[in-house]
Amino acid sequence: MNARSGAAVSRLPRAAPAPAFGPARFDGTPAAARAAAERAVRPAPFLRLPPPADEAHPPLRPLPAAFFASRRFIVHVDIDAFFASVEVLLNPALRGQPVVVGGLPHERGVASTCSYEARRYGVHSGMALRTAFKLCPQAVFVRGNYRLYQSFSERFFRILRQATPDVEETSIDEAYLDLTRCCHLYPSFSRTARDLQARIEGATGLKVSVGVGPTKVLAKLATGRAKPAGYFEIPPGGEEEFLRGLPIDSLPGIGPKTQVLLRMLAVRTIGDLWGLPRGSLHSIFGLGGDDIYLHSRGVDIRPIVTATVPKSVSRETTFLEDLWEERLLLAHLAYLCDRLTLALRQNRCYAHVIEVKARTSDFRTEVRRRLLLTPCREMGDVFRIAEELFLPLLRGTRLALRLVGVKASDLVRGKTLPLFERVSDKGERLGAALDEVRDKYGFGSVLTVREKMLDEIYPSDPDRGFILKTASLTR
Ligand SMILES: [Mg+2]
Repeated sequence: MNARSGAAVSRLPRAAPAPAFGPARFDGTPAAARAAAERAVRPAPFLRLPPPADEAHPPLRPLPAAFFASRRFIVHVDIDAFFASVEVLLNPALRGQPVVVGGLPHERGVASTCSYEARRYGVHSGMALRTAFKLCPQAVFVRGNYRLYQSFSERFFRILRQATPDVEETSIDEAYLDLTRCCHLYPSFSRTARDLQARIEGATGLKVSVGVGPTKVLAKLATGRAKPAGYFEIPPGGEEEFLRGLPIDSLPGIGPKTQVLLRMLAVRTIGDLWGLPRGSLHSIFGLGGDDIYLHSRGVDIRPIVTATVPKSVSRETTFLEDLWEERLLLAHLAYLCDRLTLALRQNRCYAHVIEVKARTSDFRTEVRRRLLLTPCREMGDVFRIAEELFLPLLRGTRLALRLVGVKASDLVRGKTLPLFERVSDKGERLGAALDEVRDKYGFGSVLTVREKMLDEIYPSDPDRGFILKTASLTR
C-alpha cells in the first residue's frame, strides 16, 4: 500500500471490529465494506497456511547456531581403495603399480576398485573393464576374492565397535561412528579418532581416511578432504568456511543429472547453493531438493543407524531324492544347523525361537517350533533342540521326506544370562574358534562326524562344504 492510499484510508471512519465468526456486519461505510470483503477471502484461523518454507528457513548464513549447540561428534571412516589395497598387501610386488580389481581386461564387467595409481589414468570404480584397459593397459587386473575382503572388513568393524557401540556400517569398508555418547570415556574426541585410525592401520595393514564433523554429511565431506590416508576435522564454527568452496558434486545425493540442472542455475560450489531458496530447490528436485538445501548448510538430522537385526535366518534343502533314513535326515539337519548358527554369528544375534520344517513326499509341510527363555546360537544347542523337534515329527509320518529346514527367529542382539544357573561361555568360544579356522581353510575344513555322513550323497568342496541341491546354501 502506498502513502497516498494510506492517507486516504486514515480519513475513513473506523469500522467496528469484525466478529471472529459469523456473518460480517455491513453498515454501509466503505471501511465496513472493505472489512467484509477481507473476511470473505481470509481463511479461518485454524486453516491458515504455515509461512512459506523460506520464511521458516531463511537462506541465510551462518549455519543455524542452535543446531550445532548440542554438538555431536561424528567420525566417518573409509578404507582407501579397499579391494586394491588388500591385493597389494598380500602381494607386495604390486605396490606402486596401478591395480584394477573386478576382472580381467577382456572380461565383461566393471572395475570394483582401483588403486590410486590407476586412478591417475582416469580409471575409476564402476568403469567397464575394457575401458579401464584402454586407459591404462599397464595396470594389473585382478578378479578379486570377496571372501578375503569380507574377513578384512570384519576385522575393521571389530576395531570400530571397540570404540563405541554407535557404529553404522554404510558399506563393506565405510562406517559412521557417533562418539558423543561415550564422552565420559574419552577426554579428547580428536585424540580418540586419531588413535582409532592408527589402530585400524596397525591391525589390518590398510590405510584409512578419517573425517570428523558434527553431522554425518559434514563428517563424510571431511573424509573427502582427508583422502588418501589422511585425517581432517572440521573445527567448531569452521563449517561455513569448509563448505563454501566445495564443488557441488561432493555433496551426497547430487548425481550427474542434478549437477547439470544446478550448472544451468550457475551453481558450481556449495557456497553458490546458499543463494537458492528452499522452495525453488524443492520445486525442481522434490524432497531431494530439501536434502540439498539442508546438507549444503551442513545440517543433517539422520541418526546413526546401528546394524539392524534380521527378522529371521533359515536354512533348508530339498533332497536329490526323497529320504526316509533317520540317520541321513539327522545328518542333513546337523549340517543345516551348522550353516544356520554360522549365519547367526555373522549377524551377531541370538535366537529366541527355533523352528524345524519337514516336507513329506506328498508335499505336506509340517512345522514344529520351540520358544527359548534363554536365546541361543551355539551349534550344539540349536541342533539338540532341532533334533528334539524333528524326531517326533519324523516318527509321526509314514512317508519319506523331500525337504528339511531349520529356522531361527525372534532374533536379539544380546543374550540375557540366567540368574540362577551356572553360565559357561564354552559354546561361544568354540563357535568363535570354528569361525576362525573356517575363515582360513574354508567351511568344509571342520565338520562333525554326523555331518560327514553326507559324504555318501553330495560332492564336497573344502571351501564351500557340501554342494547341496539348494544353491543358496553353498554360497
Ligand atoms: Mg573406501
